[in-house]
This record gives sequence, structure tokens and C-alpha cells, in this order.
Amino acid sequence: MEIAIVTSVWRFLVAFSGLAFFSAMEVSFQFRKPLESRVKHYIRNLFLGLSNGLILHITIGGLIVAYYDVLAKHGIGVLNLLNLDSRTNIILSLIFLDFITYVWHRAYHEVPFLWRLHRVHHSDPDLDVTSASRFHISEVALSSIFKMPAGVLWGPSAIALAVHEAALGAAAQFHHANIRIPKPWESLIRRILVTPDMHHIHHTNKVVETNSNYSNLFSIWDKLFGTYTHLTEHEKIIYGLEEYPRLEEVSFKKLLLMPFGPHCGIGHNGKVTSILERMNK
Ligand SMILES: [Zn+2]
Repeated sequence: MEIAIVTSVWRFLVAFSGLAFFSAMEVSFQFRKPLESRVKHYIRNLFLGLSNGLILHITIGGLIVAYYDVLAKHGIGVLNLLNLDSRTNIILSLIFLDFITYVWHRAYHEVPFLWRLHRVHHSDPDLDVTSASRFHISEVALSSIFKMPAGVLWGPSAIALAVHEAALGAAAQFHHANIRIPKPWESLIRRILVTPDMHHIHHTNKVVETNSNYSNLFSIWDKLFGTYTHLTEHEKIIYGLEEYPRLEEVSFKKLLLMPFGPHCGIGHNGKVTSILERMNK
């Protein structure tokens, strides 16, 4: 019960702080003029994010707490076998879990069934900090469950897991934010972290660009596995999906039904390819 409360409070605090900080940045350093009203966009995406959190809590909340509990009380997984100190555990876990997030994100694009769920996130015609909350509930639930065996095998400490969750959320809010970082700074940050310029390419309506720049926190994964794309003319980018070009096609109700809709008989790149096979190319 104690862990359940700490986990929920921690998640809420991190999400709310990031939202407050990056929305203030968007007011001061806005990059693009949004297509629809900022308030409407905020309300839709945040409502989706909040309802996802609530449904998750009611349905698999107990499983998530049990997962935290196992990691906190039992020294299992590779890192615990190595008897590492707390700081090393946090650093190695942050790197490993970010890699797992890259693999999982890539799977969402390459496996037809998973793309059905993930296209809700990609149907956003505008990008801002709230786009980091725009996911279908089935994707959020599936991702939470998928990461559990990886965590148990790896053995992050409970603190390392909390740091990873905070970094994951803050990174997503940062790279979706509608902000422009001055070029010299952006190039410097991009060497290590995913920047808005890098991630916004992942949200263009061109398949070849959407199927690139999958990294979440560290930019190295795309560079390492050949999925890195760089564009210079960001002003010409059109966000969203070609099959949902109009705002009325991405209303709240239609987002909920999107995984069951048409336009999705195949994966986003037109075929199913083994992720490992593509990574080894
Ligand atoms: Zn994606």
C-alpha cells in the first residue's frame, strides 16, 4: 500500500511539473503556430492522459505495485547478481531501460497489430507538451506489462525504476514540446539527448520519416541501429497521418475507436519485419 501511494504521487508530481515547465516554455519560445486552439488541444490530450492513468490504476494498478514491490524487496536480476552500488545500478538501468523503450517503440511501428494502437499518438496534427500524454489506453497498458519481464531480468532498484519513469516522462514532454532551441545548442544537446527537432521528424506525415528517430531519452539508439533521420527545413513539416488529415477525424471519441478502424490492414511500413533482423542490417 505504501509503495502504491509513493508510486502514484511520484508519477503525478513528475507529470505535473513537466507539464507546467514545458507549457511555460511553449508560451515564451513557441516554434510553430498550432492548427487548432491550444486550449482545445491541451484539454483533449490531457483528458486522454488522465483517463488512461485512472483506468490503468483501476485495472492493472495492483500488478504495477506488485512489480515495484518485487524489485524493492527481492534482489533479483542481472544487476543484483553483480552486486553493484546504488548509483551504478541507476545509471545502467537508465541506459538499459531506455534501450528497451527504443525496441518497444520500434515494434509499435513494425508490427501491424501494435501500429493500430500507436497511430492514435501519431494522429496528432499539432505537437506540444500534451502530445506526450496522447496514447490509446491499450498501448499504455500493453507497454506497462511488456516492460515488467525486462525489469525483472535486468534488476533495477526501485529508485532506478522511479528515475527511469521520471526521465521517460520528462523526455517525452521535452521532445514533443512546441519549442525551438537555438541551433548551436540544439546540435550539442542532440549528441546525447533526443531534442524536439529530432523527435518532430518522427511525427511527420511521411512514412519514411515516421519510421525513424524512435529514441526516447538518449539519441544514440537511432544512430547505432541506422534509424536516425535529420532534416533542416522543419517549417515545412506536416504533422499527423495522411489517412486522418482533418481535425474532425481525430476527435476524442474517434481516437478511442481508432485502433478498430480502417486504413490499417498492414504495418506502417507496409510489411512485418523482424526488429532484430532490421537492427542487424
Ligand atoms: Zn512512434
